[in-house]
Amino acid sequence: MSWKTVIGLEVHSELNTKTKCFCGCKNEFGDKPNTNCCPVCTAMPGALPVLNRDAVERAILMGLAVGCKINNYSVFERKNYFYPDLAKAYQISQLEYPLCLGGGLEIEVDGVKKFIRLNRIHLEEDAGKLIHTSHGSLVDYNRGGVPLIEIVSEPDMNSAEEAVAYLEKLRSTLLYVGVSDCKMQEGSIRFDVNISVNREGEPLGTRTELKNLNSFKAVLRAIKYESARQIEELEAGRPIIQETRRWDDEKGKTYTMRTKEDSQDYRYFPDPDLIPLNVTDKYIESIRQKLPKLAPERKKEYISLGLTEQDATLLTNEREYADFFEAVLRELNEPKFVCNWITAEVFKKLNALEVDDRKITLNPALLAKMLKLYKDGEINQAGARKIFDIMWNDLTANPEKLVNELGLKQMNDTNELRAVLERIVNDNPKAVSELKAGNEKTMAFFVGQAMKATQGKANPKLVADIVRELIK
Ligand code: ADP
Ligand code: MG
Ligand code: ZN
Repeated sequence: MSWKTVIGLEVHSELNTKTKCFCGCKNEFGDKPNTNCCPVCTAMPGALPVLNRDAVERAILMGLAVGCKINNYSVFERKNYFYPDLAKAYQISQLEYPLCLGGGLEIEVDGVKKFIRLNRIHLEEDAGKLIHTSHGSLVDYNRGGVPLIEIVSEPDMNSAEEAVAYLEKLRSTLLYVGVSDCKMQEGSIRFDVNISVNREGEPLGTRTELKNLNSFKAVLRAIKYESARQIEELEAGRPIIQETRRWDDEKGKTYTMRTKEDSQDYRYFPDPDLIPLNVTDKYIESIRQKLPKLAPERKKEYISLGLTEQDATLLTNEREYADFFEAVLRELNEPKFVCNWITAEVFKKLNALEVDDRKITLNPALLAKMLKLYKDGEINQAGARKIFDIMWNDLTANPEKLVNELGLKQMNDTNELRAVLERIVNDNPKAVSELKAGNEKTMAFFVGQAMKATQGKANPKLVADIVRELIK
């Protein structure tokens, strides 16, 4: 019987609050090391933590967005271990009574939809950061105490592609809800992959946990490698050891880091410095009111504007795309036309960038201006693309001025075009007879010739009309 791969994911996401989870220090990436620290987040004797309400609200918002049950009662516990980046030698986390339970996300791979259940979302604090140099290791406690949510899935995924689809959907949801900036390069979203293999119908196999994955590509490769490794081990009669493994992106392999610890090993106990967290139903409902419109709702709206489901999906994959589409639409109410430009031309630019850098900085009103010129036939597609290229890099470039500066105004004068085309038709008798014989592809030849003769300014639609008239 064939092998089945089973994957469960733990995702850590830093919340974008102004201050840390249990003190008033700034929550800011990239500041000078150890400048955003205080007695609480560096564990000075006698310092006491105070819970950040905004962190709780953001965690609840995310929980609501993915259909979790929000627990009225949850408890912060100490997870005890020593590591130089952890000043207190324990992390404040949640175990027995997490803030959010259940819920899930729908993913789609190769047209097949699947619901991935969540186990829980809990609130905890981040550790500091070690910086390894040739002289030794340095520690920066700026990140220590930054609020994190840990989103734990059930082991519901069965391929690397499903795992990546889940991560993409989760990231997109976090960005829609606006509770994390999800920058993989800055570590504000991080993934741990649990993976096992078993034979159809048999109980789940022993899992390994992969750490150090900081891109979707790494997740994809690591899962493929690790499931193949486990199958090879089992087929050779060697049992899988439950352990934490490190992914080496350069070598494309996983290596043993340490044997897996159990939760008992951490000596969890309720933090006596923090009282249990009570959130009332009324409070939860008031947070629900702040939920923005999420992808499924927007997708429906776009379809009702006349977009295909596929286009609506593309535009709602990321909140940023949807927001931008709507902003352009407010200036130029042509949904299909605007959608086509964004999904073709804007996405082409974005796809050339790393995931973290895919930001649309274009001014939507200026893009609408350019699209209106194109829509009205003032410029043709080649001209529109030329202007768009400039606008992409120069955010204040004015499309109307560019039309004049670059001489892109489309030739819409029928008489002028007829003069050009009469010559082309006379010079190309072979193409004329092909077109007459019904070979429509030949029309592209005439349009191409007309473009050449007019430095790309001819209106292609008029060209086609005039050619047909001339060959009659
Ligand atoms: P821990 O916190 O020790 O890592 P959890 O029980 O919270 O343990 O599980 C963590 C993750 O491991 C969850 O996402 C879960 O879905 C996944 N998981 C559990 N058992 C398996 C398994 N046999 N194969 C793959 N993933 C698993
Ligand atoms: Mg784990
Ligand atoms: Zn502090």
